[in-house]
Amino acid sequence: MIPNKNKKGQLVVLSGPSGVGKSTVIAELMAQRKLFFSVSYTTRQPRVGEADGVNYNFVSREEFQRMIDADELLEYTQYQGNYYGTSLKILREKLDAGVDVLLDVEVEGAGNVRRRCPDALLIFMIPPSFEELSRRLHGRNTDNEQVIAGRLARAREEYKEIPKYDYLVINDKVAHAVAEIEAILTAAECRMANRKYIVEGDYAL
Ligand code: ADP
Ligand code: 5GP
Repeated sequence: MIPNKNKKGQLVVLSGPSGVGKSTVIAELMAQRKLFFSVSYTTRQPRVGEADGVNYNFVSREEFQRMIDADELLEYTQYQGNYYGTSLKILREKLDAGVDVLLDVEVEGAGNVRRRCPDALLIFMIPPSFEELSRRLHGRNTDNEQVIAGRLARAREEYKEIPKYDYLVINDKVAHAVAEIEAILTAAECRMANRKYIVEGDYAL
């Protein structure tokens, strides 16, 4: 393997309706591939099983507002009454060090990332059916009926944004979705623009 001295990391955005399986697929993907998951900041309450600093950095609204005012966020949004946002600092450090970075953000955030980082890859994940999405949200057993109804309604809105994405992945089986995302990342890595260093650098013929 040729050492990649000059390569910057690839920024990858994964969106999809709440409950489609993004966290599940990301966990599996990270077990298989060197990838940094950008832990977002949120003002929502932790779900059972979620850990601070792992799934999210859970902060107060005051702290989130301070981050907005200090321009510390690449993007942020309000979703179902809570703030969610991506910290700029660690993301920059990782990309500069050549590490690929994965963001789990909703559609508005994805649009904002695209504006600020035009080279980002945008992937949208869908479930095999709307009924299955509802089943997964109920099966996760973390939200009440009202919250689930809000998330399902939001899913219908989010679907309208799918054409703005570069790739569509169907999470029927976790292993299948992971394999599709791996294929996307590998193809991106092989793009000529990302491999100029091979033909122009020390390895030129
Ligand atoms: P998200 O991060 O998109 O909100 P989660 O990863 O929390 O979604 O998944 C929601 C629920 O669906 C969880 O209970 C998870 O175990 C389940 N799930 C995820 N992917 C699949 C799949 N391919 N088939 C069946 N259930 C799944
Ligand atoms: P959840 O509450 O289900 O964890 O997340 C709700 C929604 O917020 C999901 O669609 C998720 O992709 C999105 N989200 C999580 N972190 C961020 C973030 O940092 N920025 C934006 N814009 N959306 C986020």
